[in-house]
Amino acid sequence: MNCEIVTIGSELLLGHTIDTNASYLARKLNLIGLHIAFHTTVGDNHVQIRDVLSQAVKRADLVITTGGLGPTQDDLTREAIADLVGVSLAFKRELMDHIESIFRRLGYRMPENNKKQAFIPAGAIPIPNETGTAPGFIVEKGSRLIIALPGVPKELKYILNKEVLPYLRKRFRLDGELITSRVLKVTGMGESKVDSQIKDLIDTTTNPSVGILASPGDISIRITAYAKSAEGAQDLIRPVEQEIRSRLGTSIYGVDDDTLEDVVINLLNKRGDTLSVLETFSGGELTARLQRSPSSPLHKSIVIGKREQIPSFLGKKSPPTSGEIAEALAEKIRDKGDSSIGLALLGTVHLAERGYEVGAHVVVSGEAIGRSYAWKMGGDLPTLQNRGATTALNTLRLALISR
Ligand code: AMP
Ligand code: MG
Repeated sequence: MNCEIVTIGSELLLGHTIDTNASYLARKLNLIGLHIAFHTTVGDNHVQIRDVLSQAVKRADLVITTGGLGPTQDDLTREAIADLVGVSLAFKRELMDHIESIFRRLGYRMPENNKKQAFIPAGAIPIPNETGTAPGFIVEKGSRLIIALPGVPKELKYILNKEVLPYLRKRFRLDGELITSRVLKVTGMGESKVDSQIKDLIDTTTNPSVGILASPGDISIRITAYAKSAEGAQDLIRPVEQEIRSRLGTSIYGVDDDTLEDVVINLLNKRGDTLSVLETFSGGELTARLQRSPSSPLHKSIVIGKREQIPSFLGKKSPPTSGEIAEALAEKIRDKGDSSIGLALLGTVHLAERGYEVGAHVVVSGEAIGRSYAWKMGGDLPTLQNRGATTALNTLRLALISR
């Protein structure tokens, strides 16, 4: 079953309104086992809506539209669908009664143009909308199905969950087909590196399917399976997960909703470790992330803004190289914070030809544990700070799992 989502509204095309309906619909339809093949957006133009839908019914078994069902001149979905199917619009008494009752409850007389909403293409099945005046409807076009839903996100959600999903489940006998996902979270490796290591496994058409989603410093590999039961889906996912783990090893730091900081905090707590942190260009971001959990074992944290402040913090002249300074800072903060592990993130940001650059050092210092990492990176400041904190957390994680 291929499905196309068509969102209708010029405000979407122009970027004035963010298309939240498409992502909501896609997630919900996916959950009942429908495959979304296309997302299309079209403005409030009769001919263009009709043409887009005419193409959609050629390539998808099920087409779901949102928007253009309001009472105003620019709401043209009803007319465009009737035109495509080759029927006229038909008046529905029960829809009119419902619309009138809404205005009565609000204490208003119904404006003349709301009458428009009681018309749907002849032969269509109306879908009642208890939350608003725009009813949806279902139309058959040959072997294909078009379902038109309101654009107001709250109404769309209501009508989808209450009426449309149960209808689709029944009509396409989707009951029992479950979709289950497992996300493997990777850091410390670029997207193209991850891609090259598992590219033979990446396929969105297999069962289970494998896909990659990358954001700065963090990559998610999603394994998705369809099966009759949750166990069946797990059985499909497990061997693929094992294969990916055997290739990416310790670059995988967690699963599903795990965050890097949660994983680090758990590793620290498991062995009763306590942590103190010194950070520079990251401006507190590392500390903030380590403090997001109430079980954080963070003892003390200091941010040093200016490099000239380092000698007074160390109580002595700075060592000659940045690597040695970072080392000394990690030892000092561990001592000052009276904790078992010290973590220092040192870096100086400078403005280069193409934006900011930083040369950074991270050092983990403690008894029977130690690790350091140095790297250079460029970008805007928030990104550099975020990547800096992520790299420091990951260096600490790798130190903790390898001791
Ligand atoms: P309509 O049904 O086209 O009259 O749209 C009603 C309201 O819902 C308007 O405020 C639209 O901006 C909003 N809306 C329509 N489509 C979407 C969409 N795809 N995502 C988010 N909001 C939408
Ligand atoms: Mg509209």
